[in-house]
Amino acid sequence: LSTLPEQALGVRTHCPYCAFQCGILMGEDLGGDMPRVSGDPHFPVNNGQLCIKGWSSAALLQHPQRVTTPQLRDEQGSWRDATWGEALDFVASKMIALRDQYGADVNGVFGSGALTNEKAYLLGKFARVALSTANIDYNGRFCMSSAGAAQTRAFGLDRGLPSPAADGEHAEGVMLVGANTADTLPPMMQWFDRQKAAGGRLIVADPRRSSTARVANLFLQVTPGTDLALANGLLYVAIEERLTDEQYITGRTTGFDAVRAIALQYHPARVERLTGIPEAQLRQAVRWLATAHSSMVLTGRGTEQHSKGVDSVHAWINLMLALGKVGKPNSGYGTLTGQGNGQGGREHGQKADQLPGYRLIEVDAHRAAVAQVWGVDPSALPRKGKSACELLDSLGPGGIRSLFVMGSNVAVAAPHLSRLEPKLKALDLLVVCDAFHNETSAHAHVFLPVFQWAEEDGTMTNLEGRVIRRRIVARPPTGPRSDLEVFHELATRLGCGEKFAFRTAESAFNELRRATAGAPADYSGITYAKIEHQDGVFWPCPSEEHTGSPRMFTERFAHADGRAKFFAVEHRAAGEEPDAEFPLLFTTGRYKEHYNSGAQTRTVGRLVNAQPVPRLEIHPRLARRHRVVTGSRVTIESRRAKVEFVAEVTPDIRPDTLFAPFHWGGRSAANLLTSAALDPVSRMPEFKLAAVRIAKVKT
Ligand code: SF4
Repeated sequence: LSTLPEQALGVRTHCPYCAFQCGILMGEDLGGDMPRVSGDPHFPVNNGQLCIKGWSSAALLQHPQRVTTPQLRDEQGSWRDATWGEALDFVASKMIALRDQYGADVNGVFGSGALTNEKAYLLGKFARVALSTANIDYNGRFCMSSAGAAQTRAFGLDRGLPSPAADGEHAEGVMLVGANTADTLPPMMQWFDRQKAAGGRLIVADPRRSSTARVANLFLQVTPGTDLALANGLLYVAIEERLTDEQYITGRTTGFDAVRAIALQYHPARVERLTGIPEAQLRQAVRWLATAHSSMVLTGRGTEQHSKGVDSVHAWINLMLALGKVGKPNSGYGTLTGQGNGQGGREHGQKADQLPGYRLIEVDAHRAAVAQVWGVDPSALPRKGKSACELLDSLGPGGIRSLFVMGSNVAVAAPHLSRLEPKLKALDLLVVCDAFHNETSAHAHVFLPVFQWAEEDGTMTNLEGRVIRRRIVARPPTGPRSDLEVFHELATRLGCGEKFAFRTAESAFNELRRATAGAPADYSGITYAKIEHQDGVFWPCPSEEHTGSPRMFTERFAHADGRAKFFAVEHRAAGEEPDAEFPLLFTTGRYKEHYNSGAQTRTVGRLVNAQPVPRLEIHPRLARRHRVVTGSRVTIESRRAKVEFVAEVTPDIRPDTLFAPFHWGGRSAANLLTSAALDPVSRMPEFKLAAVRIAKVKT
């Protein structure tokens, strides 16, 4: 799996970080002993552009902090080097002992939206077949699970973007909600730049005047947690001004009457009280979206990571269905998936309730189809397990006593971290498979060092639903192994090695294709060769003759009747709202220099130098009240924890809101403050709204 191609010059592959999966060219001999990276001008998603993370991605390879030897804790709690055989024997024997004593569900598995499709697929299979545990979930539950659930319910299928990202260039109106693409998906801005240059309008709704909001034609500085009311208010105006598309509603949807009745309760005056958005801005936004020949709403985590995240996304989908835009050229609704393989990672069985291809683990026909490919009895497959937050909550004695973590740093990424840390410490077995130590491995008993992105083959599915090839470009150091080999070795020790005996990533992918044949996310017609020839293949792709599906819902939606479903949704309070004790809103987001939990980017000097510490954004009016200036040290306290930050006074944040990035762990972890209130449908935690108070640190 790790054979470096003879000629590794100018190999086309993809960035290791976010869901845009920018095409990059890498060549070993261009930059001395370090592979050099440049943007791939021929990949149609980024057109040669990269952000600072992409440009510096080669620094992750041959990094001095890279772990190259399996490690076990000694009796004093320090790491000691081990052989692979010793480490794998230890892991497998401990898992077997726990299973025999407490039952199969005692072993938990936690995956990642950063894994290739092949690894995500095999991790799900490893949990269900090798460990027979129901308890597998992944960090994508923290990412776009609310948008995924709403799209499945409304359209019958969850594909992040229903059409290529480049369609954004041709949309007359684009509205970004809770999505700061200028920092999180910088090369995407080229499409919006061209869209605006051609006379289109960009609307941004966000509590911060972000880098994206600064270039918008209209900026709606919405109160955190009120996006649903904003969307319903826009629909109120659309109905009142007769901007809805009645022919489309009648011909292609069901359920609008109930939505109309609720939307008419969202008079602009009420919406202004809830959201802070004045009526004139509401009317301007909806007129631009409705009267444009083509328009789209794209949501990000800002509107999705709430205890009402699914309903909020429904409200945006309702709006675009009512305007008759979904399924039309350069139009509709989409979510901007965050993680590199956030899309593929959620399709292939890492979720507690799903099997490969979005098959449902509780549906007998789905179980039978996958069991047949896996060569097991369907009755032997576990049922639905715990979702990510609930899985982490149940760690420890009396619950899940062992956790196998692959590519995820839960000790930074999960909400309410002070509750998680003692649970991680109480585990009988914590195994981390990764390339670098991180805050999660600080509590681990075993560290298994594995290959990185440029060291092995595989496929990723980007935010457009385009399946692409990740290629071997760099030779891994001696010591680490492929995750595929780890699965095989552990499965062998657990008695089913033959079911994980894949010599290449392509052979694992070919089994994935069979496991998804006929499923909603059908990859059966996608081959490595076809990906090569087409610059990626959009799923669903049900046969080798099929060229893929770049644009969805043009004729019919994926429900049996071919129609999209409206869902009537009401604004409701967040898990916690500001009060006298905790009077301010706290929300989180990202810097362009760092990626998610920062486990990779905090090891890259260029990125750390550019953004060394998290800063707390505070409005000048609030700062004056607390005698805070830029550079002051402040403590932010929620009901769960107190965190110290350096203040950055800026008029770009709402006066009632504080913002901090969540890329850091330890005492700077923003997620110490966040709440574990969950959306009832998606089980998404409420990362984007906590009630807090502020105090200046006395010096
Ligand atoms: Fe990488 Fe995303 Fe930056 Fe592109 S936008 S270079 S995929 S981190």
